[in-house]
Amino acid sequence: MLQLSRPHIDDKAIAAVVDVLRSGQLVHGDECLAFESELAAFLKCNEVVVVSSGTAALHLSLLAFDIGPGDAVIVPDFTFPATANVVTAVGAKPIVVDVLPGTYTINPEHLAETIRTWRGPDTLRAVIPVHEFGCPAAMEEILEIAESRGLMIIEDAACALGATIGNQKVGTMGHLGCFSFHPRKTLTTGEGGAIATNQPELAKRLRLLRNHGMERQARGMTFCGFGLNYRLTNFQAALGRHQLPELNSWIERRRKMASLYIQLLKPLSDHKWITTPLYVDGHSWQTFMVVLAEQYDRNDVIQSMNKQGIETNLGAQSISTITRISDNKCRVGKNLYTSGLALPLYEQLENKDLHFVAEILRNTITKSMKMID
Ligand SMILES: *Cc1c(COP(=O)(O)O)cnc(C)c1O
Repeated sequence: MLQLSRPHIDDKAIAAVVDVLRSGQLVHGDECLAFESELAAFLKCNEVVVVSSGTAALHLSLLAFDIGPGDAVIVPDFTFPATANVVTAVGAKPIVVDVLPGTYTINPEHLAETIRTWRGPDTLRAVIPVHEFGCPAAMEEILEIAESRGLMIIEDAACALGATIGNQKVGTMGHLGCFSFHPRKTLTTGEGGAIATNQPELAKRLRLLRNHGMERQARGMTFCGFGLNYRLTNFQAALGRHQLPELNSWIERRRKMASLYIQLLKPLSDHKWITTPLYVDGHSWQTFMVVLAEQYDRNDVIQSMNKQGIETNLGAQSISTITRISDNKCRVGKNLYTSGLALPLYEQLENKDLHFVAEILRNTITKSMKMID
C-alpha cells in the first residue's frame, strides 16, 4: 500500500528519545528550551514557545490577546476545523471568509471587503490566515488590510514549518505564528506545537498561559494569573530537535515531487478532469491536493484508488459547510472540501511511485464518471 504520508523517524531519533526517557526528566525542561532556541534560529525570530499541539498554540494565542465574548475573529473557510474551533472555545465569534481556488488560502479581496463593511455588534479583533498545506497566504496584502484596522494577526502555520515568502519564514510575519508537529506534518513530535513571535512581552505571556500562570522566582513558585497545562514533554522535544536540521532538505525534495506531480498530471488538467494546485514559490508542500471536476464522486475515487493500492484522502474541511457558525456560504471552500483529493506525498517516496499514482488516478477517473440523474 502506498501511504498518503509517513513520519520520518530514524534510529538516531529513537535513540535520542530513549536517552531522555532514561534521564527521568520527562516534562518541560532542557530539551524543550533547546528546541525553542533552535526553532527560533531556524525561523529567524526572537522567541519560540513550544506547546502540546497546534490547537494549543492557536488557543493560547487568542488568550494572549484577551480575545473572548463580544469579539470576532476572521478565519478562512478551507482549513482544519481547529482554526475556527479555538475561536469558539474562547467565546468569540468566528467569521468565515472564502479562499482562492489555486492556493487554497484566504482571499485577500474578500478579507478586505469583510473588514471594510464590518458593522458589529461584535468587535473585530484578529485575523487567522492559514498557510494551508504549506502554501504561504498572501501576507503582504493581509498585513496591510489588518494593520490599517489595528487587528491582530495570528498565522496558522500548523502545516507550514519551513515555508517562506521571500527570505522570511511564514509564521514570523504576523504578531504570532502557530505550528503543529502532528504526524501528518513534515516534522513531527507525535503531538506537539509551537508559537513564534518577535515580541518578548507576548512570549512571556504565552509561557505563563502554557503553565498554569506559574512563575519561578528565587523564593519558589508563584501563581500570578490564569493558565492551563499546554506543555510539551522533553522526549517530544528531543524527537523534534533531531528532525529540524533535515527539514529544509525534506522540503526541497517535496518541492521537486510537487513539480513532478503537476507535470505528470498535466494531461488530466488539460482535459479539465482535475485541477492541480498552483506551484507557489516558498510552498513547503505538506500536502499535495488536486481538485476533481464536478462529474466525479471524490469518495468513490478514494475507495477505488485504495483498492488499487494507493491511499488518498480529502484535503481539509470547509468551515461554512460543516458547521452552522456562518451564514456566508463559501463556494470555493466548499468545492475544495467536497472535491479535493490529497495524493501520497512524503520525502521517502521515489519518482516511480509518483508515476504510479498519476497512472492510477488517470485510470480511475476515466472509468468513474459519476452517473448523472
Ligand atoms: C494540523 C492543523 C492544526 C491542528 O494542529 P494539531 O497539532 O493537530 O492540534 C490546525 N490548523 C491547521 C491548518 C492544521 O493543518
